[in-house]
Amino acid sequence: MSDRQLFLVFMLVPAAMTLDFRYHSNREIEHYLLQVNATNPDIAHLYSIGRSVAGQQLWVLALGLSPHRHTIGIPEFKYVANMHGNEVLGRELLLQLVADLVRGYRGNESWAMQILNSTRVHFLPTMNPDGFDRADSNCQLSQGRFNHNGVDLNRNFPDAFADPPGQHVTDDDSGREAEVRAVMGWLKTETFVLSANLHGGALVASYAYDNSGDDLVGEASLTPDDDVFVHLAKVYSANHASMHKGGHCADQGPFKDGITNGYQWYPLSGGMQDYNYVWAQCLEVTLEVSCCKFPPAGELVALWADNRRSLLAFIRQVHLGVKGRVLDGSGVAVRNAVVEVTGRRNMQPFTTNKHGEYYRLLLPGNYTFTVTYPGHEVLTETFVIPFGPERNSALTHDFVLRRYATATGDPMLSTTRPSSSSPPPWTLAPLGTALALQRLIS
Ligand SMILES: [Zn+2]
Repeated sequence: MSDRQLFLVFMLVPAAMTLDFRYHSNREIEHYLLQVNATNPDIAHLYSIGRSVAGQQLWVLALGLSPHRHTIGIPEFKYVANMHGNEVLGRELLLQLVADLVRGYRGNESWAMQILNSTRVHFLPTMNPDGFDRADSNCQLSQGRFNHNGVDLNRNFPDAFADPPGQHVTDDDSGREAEVRAVMGWLKTETFVLSANLHGGALVASYAYDNSGDDLVGEASLTPDDDVFVHLAKVYSANHASMHKGGHCADQGPFKDGITNGYQWYPLSGGMQDYNYVWAQCLEVTLEVSCCKFPPAGELVALWADNRRSLLAFIRQVHLGVKGRVLDGSGVAVRNAVVEVTGRRNMQPFTTNKHGEYYRLLLPGNYTFTVTYPGHEVLTETFVIPFGPERNSALTHDFVLRRYATATGDPMLSTTRPSSSSPPPWTLAPLGTALALQRLIS
């Protein structure tokens, strides 16, 4: 969009436009985001991640001190709503949250300053605008869940169990809907650290995995980061007016503490939260924010009040754990270094991004890290991690690697050759190292 177009939008929309509590059309959401973007150029950046099947833009608003681009050490957070077109409360919650944060920041309110000073927050108010256009207001059975092609977007991602990473070319676009391709592409543009996906029809915070490689009917399918996921889900439910009570909706639950493992609730394949976690090392929680998928508009004020504290508290969890860079033997931050935590064997190991950064959400405690990078000695370090959210920052810790003393000049070979001076502590590394090597080859 040109400056002139932005100027026209600015002129056409009253600058003092407040966000009223009613359902907004896709066009109204677009206009609202354009207005926020135009009137807050220092902290807002509006961009599109693609178009829906019917051609509607999938707008994302980013808020932060450097809204246009990533800043080293500032974690990227995202909220996604309305993936199921008939689950509509999330759209309005995200718009109210945008308004609240901007208003708070402009008013120098400490809670808003702390969030935007320490985090870049991305909002996708509707992932399925076409479905929304067909939705009616029935609480459970309304039209519009699917996209324009009749596909459930929360079944259309690569599945970590049916099609595990590293075995097939699952990262391609074949068979994916436009909205899913857009999100997959979006995840490649930034290292998102924490995310939530807002749904409706229940009142519960659901966490990975949603699927399992085994038949565990009635049981949970747990990730290696289950303690972190449980904490994240509980932060949302505990700060919510009633979710933590666990039995609010007549036809769903009860859910102890208002949380559940996704698979234990009901298994599904091709979901977005598992994809975020396994492929993009982004911990995503699925938030079911209303018993009724399309609550009466008259309830929006109260529903916003029920969710506001939760939405803000959840963002701050992006500061759990540790973050930093991996530096090679020359002191240069390197991409694709494998950073593993002992006892957490992720399907795909966490690796550094294009800035040489890693982010690892962990609860307070003592952790051992193993860092591997071609041509360098395996590095193992143990240290204590405090509770980051109350400091508005994860612990910052850079890993400094040492080059092999007898480099062969062939980094591919040297990856697999342990240093004689420091035998690798392979408590968990074989899987990660194999995948790291595979990534270098493919
Ligand atoms: Zn849903």
